[in-house]
Amino acid sequence: MPETPVKSVYVGVDLGGTKILAGVFTPQLKLLASAKTSTKADRGPKSVFERISHVVRDAVDEADLDIKQVRAVGIGAPGSIDPEQGRVIFSPNMPGWVDIPLKKEIEKQLDVPVFVENDGNACTLGVHVAELGGKPRNLIGIFIGTGIGSGLILEGRLYSGFNRTAGEIGHMILEVGGPKCGCGNKGCFEALASRTAIFRRIHSAVKDGQKTILTDLLGADLSDLRSGDLRKALKRGDKLVEKVIEDAAEYTGIAVGNIINIVNPEYIVLGGGVIDALEDEMMAIIVETAKDYAMAGAAKGVEIIASKLGDNAGITGAAVLARDSAKG
Ligand SMILES: [Zn+2]
Repeated sequence: MPETPVKSVYVGVDLGGTKILAGVFTPQLKLLASAKTSTKADRGPKSVFERISHVVRDAVDEADLDIKQVRAVGIGAPGSIDPEQGRVIFSPNMPGWVDIPLKKEIEKQLDVPVFVENDGNACTLGVHVAELGGKPRNLIGIFIGTGIGSGLILEGRLYSGFNRTAGEIGHMILEVGGPKCGCGNKGCFEALASRTAIFRRIHSAVKDGQKTILTDLLGADLSDLRSGDLRKALKRGDKLVEKVIEDAAEYTGIAVGNIINIVNPEYIVLGGGVIDALEDEMMAIIVETAKDYAMAGAAKGVEIIASKLGDNAGITGAAVLARDSAKG
């Protein structure tokens, strides 16, 4: 049996507010094994560092490999990131995450080079390289989950902007004076179409006495509500859920239309938990609305598609980051 060469694999980590995923990839981006743990962000950064290192080791072990065979680790982290220093400058959904030297801390624990990027950027990188073969020159990724992450590939490269904060599509204002967003503004795309926003609207409608199958499925307080439940409700013709999802899809379409007018990319790729669960219900409305809002001729030939990477977009993109950064 041929011996596995030393330092031959890459690990991609998707650090989220509620869970951490790690995947072991070959240089050709074949996923060998993965592992998952909860983030327990409320325990503070130090505990999260340990959980990241632990889940990386678990994934490597699951692949029957040794941490010594890992050439580099890439981490997609939420919030504003300084990729050069590998620092998390600020992460709104992670208590205590202000100016955190994530790269340094994980390198100390694993003794492997670590590279850090914003999670939306990492997911976009994953879609661009692993799903579309790196071909599109210009591509925008939009990932709708608890929040809305996104990334811009312009002229073949991840675009981070003057202060490295570019691509915050989730905080584009779509409704002046609209619902409050986690960023402090009102009416952001994220406050109108993220899973959090969708759930908030359903909860308040139920409080106002509107009827939905969801209360039969989950009880009056809807405490266990998940994206998959929305799908079940839609299949059974639930009018409330239909309206809320239609509105979220329409806001997403408006955002996509704006992007087409500003950037005019070849591809706009949508992903994240909400799109994964509700692709059939949302994509047609998103595409139609985007075309309505785009300037005449601007949307012609622009591909607006759902990513096939699903939950693996983040780990895949983080592995691409690790692979391509370790090269240089
Ligand atoms: Zn916002």
